[in-house]
Amino acid sequence: MLETKTNPTWCPGCGNWSILASLKGAITELDLKPHNVLVIGGVGCHGHAPQWLATYGFQTIHGRTLPFAQAAKIANHELNVIALAGDGDCYAIGLNHFINACRRNIDITLLVHNNGVFGLTTGQTSPTSPKGFVSKSTPFGSPDHPLNPLTLALDAGATFVARGFAGEPAHLQRIIAEAIAHNGFAFVDIFQPCVVWNKVNTYDFWRKNTYKLEAAGHNPASFEAAMRKAREREPWPIGVLYQAKAQSFTDHLPWVAKQPLVKQPIDRIDITPLLDEYS
Ligand code: SF4
Repeated sequence: MLETKTNPTWCPGCGNWSILASLKGAITELDLKPHNVLVIGGVGCHGHAPQWLATYGFQTIHGRTLPFAQAAKIANHELNVIALAGDGDCYAIGLNHFINACRRNIDITLLVHNNGVFGLTTGQTSPTSPKGFVSKSTPFGSPDHPLNPLTLALDAGATFVARGFAGEPAHLQRIIAEAIAHNGFAFVDIFQPCVVWNKVNTYDFWRKNTYKLEAAGHNPASFEAAMRKAREREPWPIGVLYQAKAQSFTDHLPWVAKQPLVKQPIDRIDITPLLDEYS
């Protein structure tokens, strides 16, 4: 099993623990070498996870995990790049990056720790909080309809769309391993109970209100079936909703076909004409 560098500091019972364990299990299952894996986090409780993995890691600024992850992939497309984000992080300030990464079909894995609340800032309503959610920021109940990230990702062109639940770590590990192995943008939204600030979407709530797609005979090759499943609520399906084969973003870049940008010599590049153009 992949080593942990230091001990996590999440609250006891937080869903992040099992997501980290599932991610480590998936990296181990795929026999990926730590020096060939980059894990990038955003801002939120999830964002500390890269510090606790013995891979390359980086914590970025709020909502920007995807721009950093995409840049790293373009610079070295041989790296397995895994971006972590929270629901407040990815679906609020980072939503534009999310939509465009789906459109781009860049070969990275995005795991969204979706707890339906801003946990790190002590409990404000997030884009995936249920309607009527009472929090510090919506003391009379949230009037907003919750965002559906799965239909959004499908419509935007993501070629791997899945949902997991932190209370089902073995199932989640399988989904994450499939996501990492996928060539293209692989998105996994994960129901992650925040045991401190979200008393609605608890482990018991998700256990009672989710079912596994595999047992339901779902065909992930069908976009229409995936869209129907993505729209389902109460119960919500977990598993791989959609997977399609397509060229990824770096497959389209002729200048990285032979070797990654980071391995290309830079001593014979003359940038004088470029500097002259802008002087
Ligand atoms: Fe987890 Fe919530 Fe604690 Fe953050 S505040 S570590 S999301 S339980």
